[in-house]
Amino acid sequence: MKIIVTSGSFAKYSPQAINELSKRFEIEHRKILRDATDEEIAEELKDADAVIIGGSAGSGRINRKIMELTPKLKLIAKHGLGLDNLDIKAATEKGIAIINCRHTMQERTVAEHTMALILSTVRKVVEADNYVKRGKWKERSELIGLELYGKTLGVIGFGSIGRIVAKIAKEGFEMNVMAYDPYVPEKLFRDLNVKSTELSDLLRKSDVITIHVPLTDETRNLIDYDEFKMMKKETVLVNASRGEVINEEALLEAVKNGRITSVALDVMVNEPPDDDNELLKMRNVTITPHLGSYTIDANIRMAAALTEDISKYFNGEKPLRIVNPEVFENP
Ligand code: NAD
Repeated sequence: MKIIVTSGSFAKYSPQAINELSKRFEIEHRKILRDATDEEIAEELKDADAVIIGGSAGSGRINRKIMELTPKLKLIAKHGLGLDNLDIKAATEKGIAIINCRHTMQERTVAEHTMALILSTVRKVVEADNYVKRGKWKERSELIGLELYGKTLGVIGFGSIGRIVAKIAKEGFEMNVMAYDPYVPEKLFRDLNVKSTELSDLLRKSDVITIHVPLTDETRNLIDYDEFKMMKKETVLVNASRGEVINEEALLEAVKNGRITSVALDVMVNEPPDDDNELLKMRNVTITPHLGSYTIDANIRMAAALTEDISKYFNGEKPLRIVNPEVFENP
């Protein structure tokens, strides 16, 4: 049986995972180009019994058409959490199981990166480094920062990652935390001592806003120009979810006209962004290249989790991180 790996980071820090899988499977690594067509992706994957894919909505996508052109495919293993690059409905209809890296504490790694983005933005760490290296140490008065203590953090999407960020902000920085998530029961907000609120209220009152929703039809462009207009000008906006949750054109306009002054992004609509994307030139926009879950610790845990679940699946058992359990309920 063959596993095709298109994720560039799978098992990078745990060769034992590859050794383990190699005992039973032929493993092949393939690089899929960002602008590959459905047919080209299917051509690369057509011999696979299972694939291990990464996060990109472009080269990492497996849609209905690709599934139709890869009839051998039985299992899709997502090296990550976000499932927006997969057609889950089509996979379920075709009996293709999907697993991801849920419960690997990848969520904690993303939450820590979110805090890094928040802190580096309020204390201007990236800009300060540039100042020092360009001989501008004495101009440090231009780098006056803000404290987090006592400020209000607004969490959009109060799921696994959002809740960890909220906890760190409350307990570590004594921030006031509010969150917007219409799908989370009020009891959970009460239990975690986080104020549940509407999106407009959160946008108006937060000093720092952090986004942790999945990309869905409902969340695409959730933050558009009207939403920027509701924010305080000094609000720090952080997005480590998916680029498309923010309308990037509206963001650029809001930054250009000073409607919003501090932004940090780990994700963008096009990854990597086009060279002429004007956001790349903005001093007050910090961008990291989708590093949210990219720590050695998480990478090792994610490889172990997928290895375990791939073995379970091919032993006829239900994987622990199955995304579409219906495949097992109605085989
Ligand atoms: P999760 O499913 O545990 O939580 C997502 C939360 O968003 C849920 O509570 C859900 O109710 C809420 N939600 C859904 N639609 C909403 C809406 N319209 N408005 C408000 N809330 C809404 O997911 P998670 O593990 O916290 O991950 C969140 C997202 O982070 C993933 O879907 C993925 O896209 C992204 N992610 C990014 C990285 C990275 O490297 N930057 C890594 C992992 C995950």
